[in-house]
Amino acid sequence: MKAARIQEYNKPLVLEDVSVPDIQADEVLVQVRACGMCRSDVQLIDGYFRKYADIPTPIIPGHEITGVVHKLGGLVPRSAGLQEGDHVVVAPGWGDGTCRHCQIGNTHICPNVRWPGFGPYGGFAEFIPVPVRYLIKVDNRLKFEELAPLTDAGVTPYRGIKKLRDAGALAPDRVLGVFGIGGLGGYAVQYAKLLGSGAKVVAFARTPDKLAVAKQYGADHIINIKGKSPADIGRELLAGTGQRDIDAIIDCTGAPEVLQLAFNLLSISGHYVDVGLVGDRLDVPLFPRVSREQTFHGSFWGSCTDLSEVMARAAQGKIRHTVKTITFDQINESIDLLRTGEIVGRAVIKF
Ligand SMILES: [Zn+2]
Repeated sequence: MKAARIQEYNKPLVLEDVSVPDIQADEVLVQVRACGMCRSDVQLIDGYFRKYADIPTPIIPGHEITGVVHKLGGLVPRSAGLQEGDHVVVAPGWGDGTCRHCQIGNTHICPNVRWPGFGPYGGFAEFIPVPVRYLIKVDNRLKFEELAPLTDAGVTPYRGIKKLRDAGALAPDRVLGVFGIGGLGGYAVQYAKLLGSGAKVVAFARTPDKLAVAKQYGADHIINIKGKSPADIGRELLAGTGQRDIDAIIDCTGAPEVLQLAFNLLSISGHYVDVGLVGDRLDVPLFPRVSREQTFHGSFWGSCTDLSEVMARAAQGKIRHTVKTITFDQINESIDLLRTGEIVGRAVIKF
């Protein structure tokens, strides 16, 4: 099969022919039809995660995976409801199934979690073995290039906004801010409208193209933050929403300058959920967080439940996509564009 692999960190991927993987009895061999390209693929290549997990090479990146069931292992139960030819998406966090997090369905935060695309097998290849419990069968009318990004870019902000909702941070008289309109933010704006309990949705980004996407997806207001102080932005917020602070924030960047700005704008008893990992430090003044009783939530990727809910919304036609398809041979070129943040929406490899 064709595979694009990390042979050495900080080098372009090597596009090569490797053998099709074997499957275990409880696994399914999925023929990959599309795989999204994520900023974390670039970070993996660039060694960002090495201090947390130094994964040995060769690695096949690619964790936004959708495709077709090619072969079922001998112990795959009939109750899985899968047959050869079915369309599936791959849930990303493969837990051990035994810890307390797995037992309530949060397999993606299992201490023994494995990730497709962060080891020998990933979506930048024509086939991948997947434990059957991490496959979700999908409506075969949905397009592969639109399904792929939903498994990360499209599920991660969904979980983040559910956390804001479950914390009671959303209501019709509140303002919900979405920071960063890249691969995740375009979906975050849509979920802000779908799950936001009527909160006013304000999108923040630095480029007009990305803000235009946010507007098209239903943001009530858009604010270009480039070169502006928190006070400037507070005035724009006041003009647009009637208040100069934000009750609930989903940060799709995690960039140091966005963390500074967005915390500065967070209201009394505000909730801040970060799903972005552009930076690697959270360094904000402590007193305002305590005296204003603010809450910070980490939110990581999504569970099978979150992904199933996203798939149901996709099947209802509720989710719109900004996707740029590329071919296998364009992978390295596309990684360079992702590194510099030049892609609007999601780049997806189509096989
Ligand atoms: Zn576990």
